[in-house]
Amino acid sequence: MRSNATEQDCVFCAIARGDIPSDSVYSDDQVVAFRDINPQAPSHVLVAPRRHVASVNQLKDDGELLGRVMSVAVTVAQAEDLAASGYRLATNHGRDGAQTVPHLHVHVLGGRALSGRLG
Ligand code: AMP
Repeated sequence: MRSNATEQDCVFCAIARGDIPSDSVYSDDQVVAFRDINPQAPSHVLVAPRRHVASVNQLKDDGELLGRVMSVAVTVAQAEDLAASGYRLATNHGRDGAQTVPHLHVHVLGGRALSGRLG
């Protein structure tokens, strides 16, 4: 993970601005959601704030934006028709958390039985 990425060179900032294409499933003034380019499940959507935030670790004191991102993640899961069968919301922070894109995003995963292993 490149820990010094800023909005100028951040791929998810570029997606939020519309400067690079994405398979968008949701967008509002604060949050975007788009399909993962390398899906790990039949439904694999990333939910990210428009504002550049490196990871969830920086949002400890911004419960409002954290809540917006999680609310949109649930909205997306329901729109993907995952509520009845189940789904996973996950976010990674830092090297040991296996974060590869240093812009906060919540993975919405579903559409198959996911492994119970998280690490
Ligand atoms: P993480 O490892 O939690 O940082 O997840 C980053 C995710 O971003 C991975 O699942 C990648 O497949 C995904 N990804 C990277 N670049 C793009 C892109 N341009 N469009 C959509 N998904 C992407």
